[in-house]
Amino acid sequence: MSAPMAIRYRKHHRLFSQNILHKCRHLLRYLSSSHGKRDYDLVVIGGGSGGLACSKEAAQLGKRVAVLDYVNPSPHGTQWGLGGTCVNVGCIPKKLMHQAALLGHLIEDSRSYGWDVPESVNNDWQKMCGAIQNYIKSLNWGHRVQLKDKNVEYLNALGSFADPHTIRAVDAKGQERVLTTENAVVAVGCRPLLPSQIPGMAEHAVTSDDLFWMKNSPGKTLVIGGSYIALESAGFLTGLGFDTTVMVRSICLRMFDQQMAHLVTDYMENSGTRFLKQCVPVRVEKNGDGKLEVQYQDANGNKDKETFDTVLLAVGRSPVTKQLNLSQIGVDLDDVGKVIGDYDGDHERSSVSHIYAIGDVLHGRPELTPVAIKAGKLLAHRLFGGSQVHMDYDKVPTTVFTPLEYGVVGISEETANVTFGDSNIEVYHAFYVPLEFAIPGRDATQCYIKVICEKGDDGRVLGIHLTGPNAGEIIQGFSVAITCGATWRQLSSSIGIHPTTAEELVKIHITKRSGKDPTVTGC
Ligand code: FAD
Ligand code: NDP
Repeated sequence: MSAPMAIRYRKHHRLFSQNILHKCRHLLRYLSSSHGKRDYDLVVIGGGSGGLACSKEAAQLGKRVAVLDYVNPSPHGTQWGLGGTCVNVGCIPKKLMHQAALLGHLIEDSRSYGWDVPESVNNDWQKMCGAIQNYIKSLNWGHRVQLKDKNVEYLNALGSFADPHTIRAVDAKGQERVLTTENAVVAVGCRPLLPSQIPGMAEHAVTSDDLFWMKNSPGKTLVIGGSYIALESAGFLTGLGFDTTVMVRSICLRMFDQQMAHLVTDYMENSGTRFLKQCVPVRVEKNGDGKLEVQYQDANGNKDKETFDTVLLAVGRSPVTKQLNLSQIGVDLDDVGKVIGDYDGDHERSSVSHIYAIGDVLHGRPELTPVAIKAGKLLAHRLFGGSQVHMDYDKVPTTVFTPLEYGVVGISEETANVTFGDSNIEVYHAFYVPLEFAIPGRDATQCYIKVICEKGDDGRVLGIHLTGPNAGEIIQGFSVAITCGATWRQLSSSIGIHPTTAEELVKIHITKRSGKDPTVTGC
């Protein structure tokens, strides 16, 4: 047999064996579950974005499924209903507050369009929060109804493993139930970090778990952190009219293209958010008048202090796996407690073959709602539907919902340079003015587009970055193009929709290398 033939034969043979192995596993699972040896085919611990999606999908495939969801209150006592982080203390209230802040800007802009608006327009925190919280409660109720409709048993109870096939569920009254299951999915997500080494911080600071449920407006606020949560929160708080300062210890949006990150923070600074750069908090104390005095120091060790009404900590999130007994039953965790996946070629399979992890709790994967949902659905179909389709964690699009939104899919310019080398990539860019900025004369200095491609007309598009209004809406469509392997030729031969911001992406033609002025002029 020739060498290429031997390689083809081995590849074919390997694929064939994998296929047979997969089918055998599926059959074994089917046989053991249909013999009804255990109570459930699947128990999911955690009823957030990933857990709900996975449990509903498995039940739709005719399996006996239970989902456990339990919310431990935040240190300030904030608690919420079914649906996890996104619904209750994440994407949903965040986006609605972002929208509330944008509306404030639009009211300002509307004067230039002839609207007769009073000189001073204020936001009523309690009214806004009331409306948002009512909406969240309707979503909590909707999730309960859907679980019932889809035959998923819901237990409002804290889950932990008694052994690899047995889960202990303890409810708020301390009543315990024991569930045996063929398969288990860990989907417990993360909670905000509260660094205990800074005196007064854990006691006095709130986190994103509290912010959206605060009964009184936050007032003058210090936000600590420089990533998604810190910048988004500081952005809408400024927009809602609060005196807001962001304290950043290093750089902002570390995981992102740094040129784009600077545009985002420059726009925020121009819109009134103050930044204390290269600074860390040292101590927080409550004054006699109830205000919080924060001592902090800069990179040179110079100390200063300032008084705030609220300190919001946004310094990362950690997985809630401590109570689950995962290590005791043989599930490998990383050093922060996330579940390590990728066993037997399955991204979500842990070191115990019938226990899986999805969403924020899975090591090394993006902490985003659509990622958790997609991984959960695909897993259910692999477990119970005979599917072999795996989650693709590459090219996950995302948007930072700062006052000037930043949407991105694919890699940063820094990563492209390191991976492909400067001479093998072409970076097209443009500064543009969104039409809606023109009449009110809003500053568009930071509205920018960058498309990173492999060199040559047929080079693949590697990354698309955009700062501007509705960046999330725009990037979603372009992410489909990137998933389909779009090339520079295909992107540039697409026809724009006029007048939109999105059309600037298909009109883009100036390379960074050329040194030409990338400012868009005319139509
Ligand atoms: P979660 O949604 O966190 O659900 C886990 C659930 O399990 C929780 O209800 C938890 O209480 C429960 N639980 C934990 N332990 C147990 C146990 N032992 N027994 C029973 N139940 C348990 N993502 C986006 O894509 N877009 C955004 O705009 C966005 N904005 C965000 C804004 C903020 C402020 C935050 C904090 C996050 C944001 N995210 C956003 C991230 C997104 O919320 C998460 O990626 C997503 O919720 C993860 O889903 P999950 O299923 O992994 O976990
Ligand atoms: P990240 O882990 O992304 O960032 C943590 C930030 O806190 C970094 O800027 C980090 O700085 C800083 N930090 C860490 N420790 C300290 C400390 N001790 N003192 C001062 N600063 C510190 O966390 P987030 O909480 O912002 O977000 C968590 C995840 O939630 C995100 O990764 C994202 O996946 C998801 N999310 C998604 C959103 C969206 O889709 N729009 C919105 C919000 C959240 P340094 O860089 O120096 O480490």
